[in-house]
Amino acid sequence: MTTSLPLPASGIWRFRSRFLGDNRVSTAPAITMGEGDTPVVPLSRWGARHGLNRVYAKLDGANPTGSYKDRGMSILVSVARAIGASHLVEDSSGNAGASAAAYAARAGMSCTVYAPANAPAPKLRQIRAYGAELIPVPGPRSAVADAARNAGSVPGAYHVSHNDNPLFVVGNQSLGFELSESAGALGCDGLPWHIVMPVGGGALFMGAAMALLGSSTDQTGPGELSPAPSIPRLHAAQTTHCAPIAEAFGRGEPDPASVVRRPTVCGGIEIERPHRGSDILHAIAATGGSAVARDDTDILKARDDLAMLEGIYAEPTSASALAALAQLAAAGTIGPDDLVFVIVTGSGLKDPGPA
Ligand SMILES: *Cc1c(COP(=O)(O)O)cnc(C)c1O
Repeated sequence: MTTSLPLPASGIWRFRSRFLGDNRVSTAPAITMGEGDTPVVPLSRWGARHGLNRVYAKLDGANPTGSYKDRGMSILVSVARAIGASHLVEDSSGNAGASAAAYAARAGMSCTVYAPANAPAPKLRQIRAYGAELIPVPGPRSAVADAARNAGSVPGAYHVSHNDNPLFVVGNQSLGFELSESAGALGCDGLPWHIVMPVGGGALFMGAAMALLGSSTDQTGPGELSPAPSIPRLHAAQTTHCAPIAEAFGRGEPDPASVVRRPTVCGGIEIERPHRGSDILHAIAATGGSAVARDDTDILKARDDLAMLEGIYAEPTSASALAALAQLAAAGTIGPDDLVFVIVTGSGLKDPGPA
């Protein structure tokens, strides 16, 4: 066995002692590939087109497997290995499966991923490339989750569900901590600041909310946060083809609307019944945020604009946040000089979507 000095913690593991909600994170040996600390870049040309002077994109497609999912997955797989799991099971439209498969490989664990039979081919290839077993499931996304839940209940197996497992949300707190640092560095001049991100199951949204609001969304104080300008307004982006949060928000209801999804280019947010729906709506209300759904055509337009004006190639799911931001700017909900962070959750390389 070789011994070497440990490298200093980087990326999400910088926040190891600040993560709220699960003490096992503080001692689990890290399974890491440097996830987190993703680039924050100004969107000057895109912003100018929408009358916004201070828009920044957080490029989470730069994470090791190409999506934000690595934030939660690194923490989740680290704890799973520390408590003796040898086999991971995940259900996913693609990105979470790829992330689970990658971290399982790195941890020396086996992995089975259940995915919709019609998921984008590059995501399915990526899952297989890490040596995971891939089981395509026909039918709705809920059938995929049910299949994984059953498989995850056998001894030695661990369901690393990004939709059900709270440890995944713990890792996503890193997004809130990082943006708080960025907002502190950029300054808000006393104006509101905003975070806009796509919401499916809401694991990313709730992770950011926990970091920024403290362990409970009832709490108004900034929890364990280092001094930040103020609490940001949190905005959820969805597609009109599946918008349980945006529809409930529009009607002022505290629980997600029951919707019947239509086929959408935004596979990553095609969640009809988000378990955390009421928490998401609560966090939106607690921060003075909003939820906005746009049509798939508007979302594809936003994807193209982002590529052509800024050189950023995002998957359609991620572009929903840009489409929502354009609407919030047009409605005056976000002012021209407000500081805005929009999360580009995944790379277009894995899911170009229709031309
Ligand atoms: C999973 C995913 C989302 C949605 O994240 P939730 O935590 O389920 O709300 C958004 N964008 C991309 C690229 C994703 O892979």
